[in-house]
Amino acid sequence: MSNTAGQFRGHSPQDIRMLIGKSLVHGAGPEESILNPRTGVKIMGLPEATEEQVHQAVTAARKAFPGWSRSTPGERSTLLLRLADRIEQMSEEFAALEALNCGKPYHIVLAEEIPAVVDCLRYFAGAARCLQGSAAGEYMEGHTSMIRREAVGVVGSIAPWNYPLMMAAWKISPALAAGNTVVLKPSEQTPLTSLLLARVAAEVLPPGVLNIVLGRGESVGNALVTHPEVDMVSLTGDIATGKKILTNAAKSVKRTHLELGGKAPVIVYDDADLDAVIEGVRTFGYFNAGQDCTAACRVYAGAGIHDRLVAELTDAAASIVYDSSNDDDNEIPPLISERQRERVASFVERAAEHPHMEITTGGNKPEGPGFYYQPTVIAGARQDDEIVRREVFGPVVSVTRFDESDDVVAWANNSEYGLSSSIWTNDVSRAMDVSSRLRYGCTWVNCHFMLVNEMPHGGMKQSGYGKDMSMYSLEDYTTVRHVMIRYA
Ligand code: NAD
Repeated sequence: MSNTAGQFRGHSPQDIRMLIGKSLVHGAGPEESILNPRTGVKIMGLPEATEEQVHQAVTAARKAFPGWSRSTPGERSTLLLRLADRIEQMSEEFAALEALNCGKPYHIVLAEEIPAVVDCLRYFAGAARCLQGSAAGEYMEGHTSMIRREAVGVVGSIAPWNYPLMMAAWKISPALAAGNTVVLKPSEQTPLTSLLLARVAAEVLPPGVLNIVLGRGESVGNALVTHPEVDMVSLTGDIATGKKILTNAAKSVKRTHLELGGKAPVIVYDDADLDAVIEGVRTFGYFNAGQDCTAACRVYAGAGIHDRLVAELTDAAASIVYDSSNDDDNEIPPLISERQRERVASFVERAAEHPHMEITTGGNKPEGPGFYYQPTVIAGARQDDEIVRREVFGPVVSVTRFDESDDVVAWANNSEYGLSSSIWTNDVSRAMDVSSRLRYGCTWVNCHFMLVNEMPHGGMKQSGYGKDMSMYSLEDYTTVRHVMIRYA
C-alpha cells in the first residue's frame, strides 16, 4: 500500500480499511490509485477486495441478518441515531476526506453534504418506527389475514463517485432501518469517506450488519451482483451500468433498485422571474461541476426571454469561482478524473463543430494542474443535438429557444432520461398543467435541486425505478408478506 501524498488529517493508510463482519481489514486484491482531482496527484493506493473477501462480507451479512431483522424498530433506530451522532461529531474529518478525494470545496462539503448525510440517517431512524400498512381483516369467513412488511435480506449497495458519503447514506439508511443487512461498495475512485464510515460502523453497529468492501465494478461489484446469498442489489450509477447489473442479477432473480442518470429539462417561460432563473441555473446547473444527476443542464427558454437569459447566464457562469488557490473562495470542484474531463471536453468540441451553436462562455480546460473545466454555456442548441440529448455530467449548460408554436413539454419529455425537471413561470395554472404532463420523477416549480429526506428522489424511464429518501424508499427495501390465520 502506498501513500505518496503523505498522511492526511491523522490518517495513515493503515487506518483506511474495509469492514467485514467485525474486522477492519485491508483488501488483498490489486491496488487502485486514489487521486486528488485538484492536483491530479496520487493520494494513496488502496488494494481492492478479492472475491473471497466479498464472499466473507456477504457471509457476515447473512449471519447478522436474523438478529438484525428481528430486532425492534426502536433498537435499530437507536443505533442509526448513534451512527448519525458520531458522523456529526466527526463532520470536519469526513468533510476533509471527501474534499480531498473528490476535489470538492471543503466549506461546501461541510455545510451541505455532511449535514445531509446526518439528516438522512436520522430521518430513517425515525421512519423505521413508522411503517404503515393495511389493517388485518377477514377476507374469507373464519380466517384473519394480515400483511407483514419485512426486510428483503442481504442488500448489495453499489455507489457512485459524485457524492460518495451521501449516496452511501441514501442506500444504507433505509436498508438498515428496514432490517436488512448490507454490503456496501463505494466507487473505486472515491472510497475514502466510506472507509472512515467503516471505522465508525465497527464501533456502533453489531458485527456483519454493515460491511464495506472496496473495488472496481467489474470485479467486486459484479461479485456482489452475482453472489447467491445477496437478495437485492441497489445501484446509483450510469444507465449502462444499470443494464449490466440487471442482466447479471436476472440470473438469480434478485430484486434491483436502480437510480441511474439524468438530463434535467429546465423550462423557462417568458413570464419567469429572470433573476431567479439565473441564480437557480448558476447554482444548480454547475453545482459539483455539473456532476449531478439532477443538474439543471438542459434549458429551454421562451422566445421572449431567450436573449436576456443567454446574456445573463453567460455572465453568471463566467463569474463562478472554481480554481482559486484559496479553497474558501471556490464554488465548484474540478471534475473527478482526467477521463471525465476528456469526456466533457469532447461533448463541447463536438457541439462547437455545429455552426448553429455558440459557446458563449467557457469551453476550455484551464492551464495548470488538476482536472478543471471552465463553466460553459452553449447557446443555440436544438432538440436533436447530442448536447441536448446526452448526459454530460460536467459544468455545461445548453440553451434551446422555443416559440409559442413549439410543444416544449413534448421536447422536454422526449428523452431516455426521466429523473428530474423544472418549470419557471409566474402563471400558477401553467405550472400545474405542465408539471402534470412532465414524465420525470420530480418537477420543481421556480426552483431546482431542492431535496428533502421526507420526499422521494428517483427516476422514470431509463433513469431507473428505485426511490431514495422518504417512506417510499423504506418500502423499496421491504417485502410484503401475507399471513392468514384460520380461527373457525
Ligand atoms: P458508474 O455506473 O460508472 O459506477 C457506479 C458504481 O457502479 C461504481 O461503484 C462502479 O464501480 C459500479 N459498477 C460499474 N460497473 C459495474 C458492474 N458491471 N457491476 C457492478 N457494479 C458496477 O457511475 P459513476 O460514473 O460512478 O457515477 C455517475 C453516474 O451516476 C451518472 O450517470 C449519474 O447520473 C449517476 N447518478 C445517479 C444518481 C441518481 O440518484 N439517479 C445520483 C448520482 C449519480
